[in-house]
Amino acid sequence: MKKLFFVCIILATSIVLNAQKIKSSDDAKIDALIKKMTLEEKIGQMTQVTLAVIAKGGWANTDGTLDAEKLKEAIQKYKVGSMLNTTAHALDVETWHRVIKEIQDEALNTKLKIPVLYGLDAIHGQTYTLNSTLFPHNLAMAATRNPELVKAAAKVCAKELRASGVRWNFAPVLDLGRQPLWSRFPETYGEDVYIGKTLGVAAIQGYEEDGLKNPTAVASCMKHYLGYSASRTGKDRTPIYMPEIEMREYYLPQFRAAVKAGSSSIMINSSDINGTPVHASKYLLTDVLRKELGFEGLIVTDWEDIIRLHTIHKVAATPRAAVVMAINAGIDMSMVPGDYSFFDLLKEAVEKKEVSIDRINDAVKRILKLKFKLGLFDNAYTEENAKANFGKPEYQALALNAAHEAITLVKNKNNILPLSKNEKILVMGPTSQSIAPLNGSWSYTWQGNQEEWYPKESKTIEQALADKVGADNVIAIGVRGFDAKENYDIDKLKANADKADIIVLCLGENAYAESPGNIRDLALPEEQVNLAKAAFATGKKVVLLLVEGRPRFITNIEPGFDAIILPFWSGRKTAEATADVLFGDYNPNGILPFSYPKSMGEMVMYDYKNTESKREVFNDDVLWNGYDPLFAFGFGLSYTTFNYSNLHLSTDTLKGNQKLSVSISVSNTGKVDGKHTVELYSRDLYASISPCNKRLRAFKKIELKAGETKVVNFIIDKNDLAFVNAQLKTVTEPGDFEIMIGNQKAGFFWKE
Ligand code: BGC
Repeated sequence: MKKLFFVCIILATSIVLNAQKIKSSDDAKIDALIKKMTLEEKIGQMTQVTLAVIAKGGWANTDGTLDAEKLKEAIQKYKVGSMLNTTAHALDVETWHRVIKEIQDEALNTKLKIPVLYGLDAIHGQTYTLNSTLFPHNLAMAATRNPELVKAAAKVCAKELRASGVRWNFAPVLDLGRQPLWSRFPETYGEDVYIGKTLGVAAIQGYEEDGLKNPTAVASCMKHYLGYSASRTGKDRTPIYMPEIEMREYYLPQFRAAVKAGSSSIMINSSDINGTPVHASKYLLTDVLRKELGFEGLIVTDWEDIIRLHTIHKVAATPRAAVVMAINAGIDMSMVPGDYSFFDLLKEAVEKKEVSIDRINDAVKRILKLKFKLGLFDNAYTEENAKANFGKPEYQALALNAAHEAITLVKNKNNILPLSKNEKILVMGPTSQSIAPLNGSWSYTWQGNQEEWYPKESKTIEQALADKVGADNVIAIGVRGFDAKENYDIDKLKANADKADIIVLCLGENAYAESPGNIRDLALPEEQVNLAKAAFATGKKVVLLLVEGRPRFITNIEPGFDAIILPFWSGRKTAEATADVLFGDYNPNGILPFSYPKSMGEMVMYDYKNTESKREVFNDDVLWNGYDPLFAFGFGLSYTTFNYSNLHLSTDTLKGNQKLSVSISVSNTGKVDGKHTVELYSRDLYASISPCNKRLRAFKKIELKAGETKVVNFIIDKNDLAFVNAQLKTVTEPGDFEIMIGNQKAGFFWKE
């Protein structure tokens, strides 16, 4: 026994020592390298430029041909350590291999042979490689409430990115979708913090879990730290005003969870919070992110955001002051990305002792560490064993599965759906004959709105319907191209309506990203509203396929539709999955990750405060001014029905760190099999700051055969009941709580 004990001790010690050796051998190499580096070489590592800087013809370049002189200038003169982006559009796999090879050839032809770290925005699949597999955007993924699916899609994305020779992904987006006007709303996991945390971590695991040396993994980049989505105007990169209590309750937890999950890098919010640009905030970058959250990875700016401290934010009187501010606040790498101004300015700043060499060494160390972790020093080129991972047939099945689970049915009057395959359908509207609106932003181009770059196998909704029920059963009006006037031809609609049994109207939004997606009004454009009214006037039943990235108002026309499906921006298989749902070949199970607003004056989230809901009772009239969305958070219909019973809590008094077991029976009471998400909410009855109406604390997705019942179990503890108090501490206060699942509710008391 004793012997065994000692063997174990020796084994354990040697494992620990080995781990330390591996760690210290990387660290030692990095330290040795840093010692050899000149100031220029260090600053070069901190400099990131975009591909257009070294491509022939700059931004107009379409084939990835590099300008040898410019490449030399970048690497030999400016010692650039990182590059990003594509030029006009996505490139094919072979072109990426060539681009990466030429860049690394040049980088390895230097004294220190430090490889370049290349990064891309593969936010829903590998955006910038032609024929990659695009998955649903985060918002749609959140509708699936399926972390395994999120992880699996991220894994495919990592493989296709690495197969293209790129090992750094600017994803996942961890911004919270509580401002539906915002053009990047579709990139978020919606309005809830718990969903954001859970799915954000799942994505990071998909990207990184294999270990970054492995050719199936890439470094992730949490973005955009912090509060980026909460702009007051709803326009991209406009000011945020946010009390710290709100920041800590809603916007910070995803980043805390993602840091804990081991994400390798982080990108900073381009905007300002309470007047301080985040890129200049030592408090947020160093005190909160480094010290409080314990983040040790690489901090990169967003696009041009250092110089903008001078040119846009106007907090730095000179361009050099901007550089000094950002680097001293804690930035490690500048996405400059269009010139070398950062390089020159930082050099000057160090020489003038405005930035310390220790700060520079600290930044460079983090950058080199990531390059080591990614195996770039072993092989800087596209790895042979990574190449085979591009475009495997099974990715298409996963993309279809993800789109299926994302699609959300929000109205089905008299169970008009699923449609019969024998009915004649008239299909029209701006999203019926185009691919771009089904994929949205970051799809083969930044904006995603150029039809010609989509894989030729991609289907429009009209094509998917024709495939499903036969071209003879589909009357299609309109042409490719969201804005084409033929898509709004009311006369044609009237003339053809009689030949059809049902009208499938495809409305929504075309693809957009960032500032080009800014809008002044959430209202659906008038020409779409007119089309809907014309469809109602035919007297036919009308089904709405509302393909959009954010919830555009349909309040005035909603009553006219017999059924409404939200396919979201669900990637390559959006059209096929929508057709499957429409005709009952797939039973929908997506549920909303946001509250679909009814009116502009009531942008209220599901976790509202009591005062936001009921204001007063006056002469027996209850005056409501609060949560009255068109479709509530968590809402989504199925072709079957589910019933909840027997909510059971393991105790009615929970103490300290004890676990509370919660169980509930869920039955499929309809005639078809279906998947279903069971959501557990908690309510704090009284607290030192006004508590939320309810908060989502856990969810589980189950599959039930028709007639089947399953017991679903959850375990929660005091941390799941916590909130941020007036002293900015996350606390659980003793008192009464309720657990709510479906229509069931049970109470318990928590005490220290
Ligand atoms: C976006 C980032 C993106 C970066 C690089 C910026 O404009 O805000 O999300 O990662 O560009 O493409």
